[in-house]
Amino acid sequence: MLATPRDRHPYGWRSSTPFIIANLLPFLAYFTGISREALILGIVSYLVRMFGITAGYHRYFSHRSYKLARVPQFILAFIGTSAAQKGVLWWAAHHRDHHRYSDTARDPHSPQKGFWWSHIGWILCDAYGETDYDNIKDFAKYPELVWLNKHDWVAPWALGIASFIYAGWSGLIVGFFASTVLLWHMTFCVNSLAHVWGKRRYATGDTSRNNWFVAFFTGGEGWHNNHHHYPACARQGFRWWEYDPTYWVLRLGAMVGIVKDLRQPPLAVRQSKRIRDGHLDVGRFRSHLAAAAATAPAEASEFIDALTSMAERAGKRKIPTA
Ligand SMILES: [Zn+2]
Ligand SMILES: [Zn+2]
Repeated sequence: MLATPRDRHPYGWRSSTPFIIANLLPFLAYFTGISREALILGIVSYLVRMFGITAGYHRYFSHRSYKLARVPQFILAFIGTSAAQKGVLWWAAHHRDHHRYSDTARDPHSPQKGFWWSHIGWILCDAYGETDYDNIKDFAKYPELVWLNKHDWVAPWALGIASFIYAGWSGLIVGFFASTVLLWHMTFCVNSLAHVWGKRRYATGDTSRNNWFVAFFTGGEGWHNNHHHYPACARQGFRWWEYDPTYWVLRLGAMVGIVKDLRQPPLAVRQSKRIRDGHLDVGRFRSHLAAAAATAPAEASEFIDALTSMAERAGKRKIPTA
């Protein structure tokens, strides 16, 4: 069923209060000042932790697009956890649902429920706080990952304390909190901005787009339409000019033998379902239907469901060009 803003859960104070406070903490830089050490610390910690999210939480734990031994797997999960985006198994299980149920009511951060909902709303409600271990059985079999998932505060607290020891109050506020808040919002932009702004190359059933701005700040995650088209591969920039440093670092890891079986997008996949070859852009069509469903009376929902399934059937076939 298509998602509409009516499917949004109410915001919960338990989930949103610490998040709102953390978003305001960087303003304390007015009092602490911004030291050189703190600024460099903030930039380095942003880049390293973004890699932990993109290469780790996303491409490895959610999509298994390459293989790692058990120790580097844990280290990558630990780095990702220091970005304070909850536990690794929680994140990956929810992300698998985003792909499985893209843009429907079961997609936790469907952009059809509204831009802010897909950006932060779904985090501010209490509905998605638990980890669905059945959805991430392949990694839940490692007790060290389950421990890290349950104690997701350990890595961010350790980094916060280390930032304070290294560069004082400025280190804590700018080096840790400001870089964490920026990391949050750039990661969230993949769910929000990269579903509304950018080009669509492939006729995916969702609204994903290729967005250079998001790609720049997330180390290559902005090629989101490529990614929804073929989520199984470690590479998201399919063309040479599609900036994807996460993939380049992974290739380096493969050269030194840490990363194994780095999955590539086959040529046949890269050339399939391209909108310019005449494939119906079923994702965009469904988003128009969702907009209609949002304003339609409840009794029209069956009609809209029928149109949606027609669009999905049509999306599986190439539209003949005259
Ligand atoms: Zn998406
Ligand atoms: Zn994904």
